[in-house]
Amino acid sequence: MSTFRTPRRRARLALAAAITVAAALTGPVSQAAGSPSAPTSPSAAPSPGAPGLGDPIFPLDGNGGYQVNRYLLDFDWQAPRTPFEAATTVKATATQALSRFDLDFAGNTLHTVTVDGTTATAVRDGDELVITPAKPLAKGKPFTVKVTYTADPTQTRHRDDAIEDYGWIPTPDGTVLYPQPNGAKMIFPSNDHPSQRAPITFRITTPPGLTAVAGGALTGRAEQADGRVKWTYDSEQPVATQLAQLAIGRFTFVDSTGPHGLPIRDVVPDDLVASTEQYRKLTADHIAWLEERLGPYPFNRYGLLVGDTDLGVALETQTLSLIPKADLLGDRVGAERNLVHELTHQWTGDSVGIKSWSDLWLSEGHARFYERLYSQAHGGDSFEATMKTAYASHDQWRHDYGAPAEPTEPNLFKRMRYDGSTLVLYALREKVGQETFGRIERAWVTEYRGKIASTQDYVDLASKVAGQDLDGFLHPWLYGAKTPPMPHHPDWVVNPVQG
Ligand SMILES: [Zn+2]
Repeated sequence: MSTFRTPRRRARLALAAAITVAAALTGPVSQAAGSPSAPTSPSAAPSPGAPGLGDPIFPLDGNGGYQVNRYLLDFDWQAPRTPFEAATTVKATATQALSRFDLDFAGNTLHTVTVDGTTATAVRDGDELVITPAKPLAKGKPFTVKVTYTADPTQTRHRDDAIEDYGWIPTPDGTVLYPQPNGAKMIFPSNDHPSQRAPITFRITTPPGLTAVAGGALTGRAEQADGRVKWTYDSEQPVATQLAQLAIGRFTFVDSTGPHGLPIRDVVPDDLVASTEQYRKLTADHIAWLEERLGPYPFNRYGLLVGDTDLGVALETQTLSLIPKADLLGDRVGAERNLVHELTHQWTGDSVGIKSWSDLWLSEGHARFYERLYSQAHGGDSFEATMKTAYASHDQWRHDYGAPAEPTEPNLFKRMRYDGSTLVLYALREKVGQETFGRIERAWVTEYRGKIASTQDYVDLASKVAGQDLDGFLHPWLYGAKTPPMPHHPDWVVNPVQG
């Protein structure tokens, strides 16, 4: 997501939402995460899958003991603020003999849970849905879980960082999703962690006159006997839950073509088509600009979902970035910064996923890096000047928000993960030179295309491409309490930490 935004509102319900989150996160001590269960032999006695992956920021997100192969979402959508009947089918494979396992789920009303068609025992414990199948599941065997529930399309949570409200976002005539960072569990039961990716099939029925969209390809549109319309989309590639998008509204599809015939489909509320056109039509140029630096666009299609919402921030939902309308109705420099930022994420953050939330700097630092590089060449601020300013604040940000690769939960989406992390990449470019840095970046999005990667993976790859061990250079930048000297800029000064 982007933190560059047009001025706006907001304080509403922050306190109430914060209390809700605090209550929801207060789980029993017995559930306190830990790492996934140790490997077991095929003959090992069935045991519970771990309730979380032990991520340093969100320990209970994701689950152990199985891998998801596909999600199928069946949503019988009604109206922007009307609860509706939903079913999620999870096709998975057990990676250990399982006596029980968890899904991450925070939807509001649970109805039934079956495993391979047989009713299972299901208990909610905070954001964990603890499922005990009638019979244990054998290691290596596929199984199918179906959860039926009532979805509340007004359900949101709040963070006091750049994210603010996330979850289901109602619009005047529909819905958009803002699942980042871990709000997908409000939308469907899942392994709600960025390292756990699976393809998604979306099957959404809508009242007549409305359109449903989702990330990936439209594979079916069928009018039902009752006049409702069933829309089917396939994500085509695996997608992290935080990057899933589905939306309903009175939409116009605006189709165009990008580099090499790439299909571009913008999804625009009918009454915003004309007013947003001047910046939407820049997407093909933005893709061409990024392809010169990062190589081929990594997915089969792209498009902008224009959000008829006062959300302050855009989101890089895979193949269909959510752009709040205000981002497309202001000045050109600001609009292009947001558009290039979310587009860059398709390479870094979406195609190259993050292994843990501590690796977020890789996703946001890169998106901001290319956003600033593009903007400098298109009427925006000097990249070097903005980096000099970030350098001056860097000790303060380390103190307040943690070093770039050492975020804490409340400080995850603070400025250190944006300009503060771009500064690390800027320092690397100063250290190895522009040509070598360009090769590192290309290698990064090529080698890890469609995969997850960690901070150490980046350091190792940079060292390999540059032909020098960069660990000693990058480690203090990424983890140190003090900001290292900036290569080639001995005059740059770090301001003393206040408070
Ligand atoms: Zn971003």
